[in-house]
Amino acid sequence: MDLSYTEDQDALVRTAREFTRKEIIPKAAHFDETGEFPREILKRAWDTSLMNVEIPEAYGGLGGSCLDNCLVQEEVSFGCSGMNTSMAANSLGATPLLVAGTEEQRKKYLSRLTSEFLFCAYCCSEPDAGSDVAGMRSRVTRHGDDYVLNGQKRWITNGGVVDADTPGVKTGRKEDKMGQRASNTTDVIFEDVKLHKSQLVGTEDGGFKVAMKTFDRSRPWIAATAAGVIRRSLEESRNYALERKTFGVPIAQHQAIQFMLAEMAISYEATRLLTHKAAWQVDKGDLSAITSAYAKAYGADAAMRASTDAVQIFGGYGYTKEYPVEKLMRDAKLLQIYEGTSQIQRVVIARNVLGRQV
Ligand SMILES: Cc1cc2nc3c(=O)[nH]c(=O)nc-3n(C[C@H](O)[C@H](O)[C@H](O)COP(=O)(O)OP(=O)(O)OC[C@H]3O[C@@H](n4cnc5c(N)ncnc54)[C@H](O)[C@@H]3O)c2cc1C
Repeated sequence: MDLSYTEDQDALVRTAREFTRKEIIPKAAHFDETGEFPREILKRAWDTSLMNVEIPEAYGGLGGSCLDNCLVQEEVSFGCSGMNTSMAANSLGATPLLVAGTEEQRKKYLSRLTSEFLFCAYCCSEPDAGSDVAGMRSRVTRHGDDYVLNGQKRWITNGGVVDADTPGVKTGRKEDKMGQRASNTTDVIFEDVKLHKSQLVGTEDGGFKVAMKTFDRSRPWIAATAAGVIRRSLEESRNYALERKTFGVPIAQHQAIQFMLAEMAISYEATRLLTHKAAWQVDKGDLSAITSAYAKAYGADAAMRASTDAVQIFGGYGYTKEYPVEKLMRDAKLLQIYEGTSQIQRVVIARNVLGRQV
């Protein structure tokens, strides 16, 4: 068993780390404060091939693996998980085509994402159907060779920035969020949207399976995002603990602080290993919802804990915007909510543990 990276992966991590240091970290607080969309930064990420990592070379992409994408996402999330979410949503939107698209569909849509700086969105959740994906109310009806789509989607990342010129596709309200404010989240409304049968991804009754397979491939990314948040929480906390003095000594000398740092270090290592195992399984074509669920559930909860402890280590200063740890805490919360909440991951895991016994 060899956990080392290939030379290409080493280079990819170096590129993503350098990009994060130069382009993302200096601007992260600004985009968090304003809630503006960081288009220029993301354009440079696109130029640097840090977006659309998993699109095959045949369609102009990097041809990277799920693990490659996780490596990039950890680095970008170290700087700003909101910006990472904007970038990752492009991979999410592209994944159904990788799972079930025809050659023509892949050529048409995936090649556009690599030849033009464009965003796409994955529109699954609805106002009354988030966890309960099967409860969605959007409807497609057949009209000869065409389909007509009606419905309303909610919480759609990149919903307001996609280039959606098909008549009847509208962007609804933009959410004013607690964290990950550099990502754009809106309603997307479909009103009598005409679609040709050539636009059907998979089969008429196969959409739910495509959506689930998409999540199996994307959940390792959330765990990778969590790893980035935990590593940043640890680094900021370590540096502060060595500087800040109470009772005549750096707080790093208090065992209570040391133990919080040690817990962060353990959870970083564990999150990374779970992420890499889940990604490795995806890359072997062994789509196992359960490993992705372990990685997502553990990583999201660990990131929430690590970022909350980081605020604690900073004391009163941690509760202000003077330091980046309160942003880490607000950003981390989303990891427990989107792409299947922490509870839903446990439902999946418990079902797997219990099999058909209940
Ligand atoms: C910023 C942001 C970006 C997002 N981006 C996207 C996107 O790009 N595309 C997309 O399709 N969706 C996106 N989502 C939607 C996200 O996936 C949903 O919010 C999430 O799945 C939860 O659904 P819900 O909000 O309807 O909560 P609900 O499903 O109403 O859940 C409410 C609470 O009940 C719990 N719960 C529900 N069912 C069960 C159960 N069976 N057992 C135990 N507990 C349960 C949940 O864990 C949660 O705590 C995004 C959400 C946010 C906030």
